[in-house]
Amino acid sequence: MRCLITGGAGFIGSHLAEELLRAGHAVTAIDDLSTGSLANIAHLESEARFRFVLDTVLNRQLMAELVEWADVIFHLAAAVGVKLVVEEPIRAMETNVRATEVVLEMAASRGKKVLFASTSEVYGKTSRVPFREDDDLVLGATWRPRWSYACSKAMGEFLALAYWRTYGVPVVIARLFNTVGPRQTNRYGMVIPTFVRQALRGEPITVHGDGQQTRSFCWVGDVVRALAALAEHPEAVGQVFNVGSDEEVRIVDVAWRIKALTRSPSEIVFVPYDRIYGEDFEDMPRRVPDLTKIRTLIGYRPTIRLEEILKRVIAHHRRLMESGLRDRVEERRFQLFSAH
Ligand code: UDP
Repeated sequence: MRCLITGGAGFIGSHLAEELLRAGHAVTAIDDLSTGSLANIAHLESEARFRFVLDTVLNRQLMAELVEWADVIFHLAAAVGVKLVVEEPIRAMETNVRATEVVLEMAASRGKKVLFASTSEVYGKTSRVPFREDDDLVLGATWRPRWSYACSKAMGEFLALAYWRTYGVPVVIARLFNTVGPRQTNRYGMVIPTFVRQALRGEPITVHGDGQQTRSFCWVGDVVRALAALAEHPEAVGQVFNVGSDEEVRIVDVAWRIKALTRSPSEIVFVPYDRIYGEDFEDMPRRVPDLTKIRTLIGYRPTIRLEEILKRVIAHHRRLMESGLRDRVEERRFQLFSAH
């Protein structure tokens, strides 16, 4: 299979590229490096079946060529992280909606399959867990910027399903829950890499609010295997699937576990939300997927539990911090070539 990954130099995109290459597929990754990084794909440089294109999905002429080449498009390019979305809402909304339109239009005129990476954010602030794919979405007021992200991703889902119904474009929608693993940067405020780096440096571990909010964290390897399997399963077409882990944990307990696993002297501090995200911020109190649907179709089960995920992420950041590896890899000359 020939696979085009938008956002292919991002955290999840780069792991997906690896997974697809391992399965024998050819992969083209397109990324504008707004939040992705060459370091994430440097190790794929020598793979004959891998190519990287540095450009934006909004370049229609280029996308027409890439979609023509591909059998399936994994559309992962999107604004990442609540922090970025709150700080740059216009960019986030435009990236999400416009890029999705381009991908769907190109796929429609060429009869290609699209796997759209959506997000558990679309469930909004409902506390009725676990979240099922056919649940109502409960979003907050429009003057609370956080919800623009959920709304733009929900719009992507509506668009994808409309292209399926109107033009028969085979689309699959995956709602990703909090994904964790190597290469996830702390730059956009994601909680686990942030806590791990704070703990390793002996800095205060910053729990937002009272830390009673919950999440369920999934190993990136499990997530990308699910995405690859969903893209290949004919019965997944036209449907929405939760992808994640259902091991629920309070954020304050994540802080304590990371502190214990790193044997860190760091203090755990509680920071009011408005100091981080400004006023009008609303968090999701709980977030847990119901995995029945994806388990029934492709037999998916997360394989790595939180304790092991934390150990692996800690080991990864220890290595990075000890060797300064990321900086060195960033500086390495990388063979870039575009489709032009
Ligand atoms: N969080 C935290 N401290 C941090 C970063 C995040 O307490 O330094 C909290 C955040 O407020 C949220 C949870 O951890 O309640 C998960 O945040 P993240 O940005 O990783 O993902 P989200 O689930 O919000 O998309």
